Amino acid sequence: MKILRNKKASKLLAYYATNFGYKQPYQVLVDATFCQAALQNKVAVEDQLKKYLQTDLRCFTTQCIILEAEHLGQPLIGATRIVKQFSVFKCGHEGKPIGGSDCVRDMVKVSKFIVTTQDRSLQHYLRQIPGQALLYLHRSAPVLEPPSKKTKDIASQKISSLLTKAQKTLRKDPVHTDILTNKKRKKPKNPNPLSCKKKKIVKNGKV
Ligand SMILES: [Zn+2]
Repeated sequence: MKILRNKKASKLLAYYATNFGYKQPYQVLVDATFCQAALQNKVAVEDQLKKYLQTDLRCFTTQCIILEAEHLGQPLIGATRIVKQFSVFKCGHEGKPIGGSDCVRDMVKVSKFIVTTQDRSLQHYLRQIPGQALLYLHRSAPVLEPPSKKTKDIASQKISSLLTKAQKTLRKDPVHTDILTNKKRKKPKNPNPLSCKKKKIVKNGKV
């Protein structure tokens, strides 16, 4: 069951990579709500995500996320400890921190992140962005959300426009036009010197 789940996740990730430019090592943006759920369900975030997605990845967080978690104090003390283990991605709000959720909303505009969050309203927001990869925990199981209809539509539009573009380019290129129209190209004017060798005449067995 677990192997099948991981296989499905890795296929989904390949879909996001092919159609929306996610690159290895994948960047994962982790927020405090995810860390809280990971703590409650005894999930080692980075290790489990690597196993689940079957790939190399780097977990990031932002200063805004850390500060907000710290500000919430005791209830999030364990989650704060976890989230602080990740590399801090410079979000641009240094000195003027904003809410963790708002910071994530800004971050997905500047870089390709797989966002991991349990925050329902943030999840809802991210689902509206075509091609945005979203991951959350279902109890202790990570779930990479399958592409929404909007995402699928955009991906197929991209493919068809790429095909049209390729066809146009091929039409402009005479070499490829021949391939497209199945025309035979003219042979070079100068014959191959090897083919010009005089034929040997054999008479009565002698050359
Ligand atoms: Zn920020």
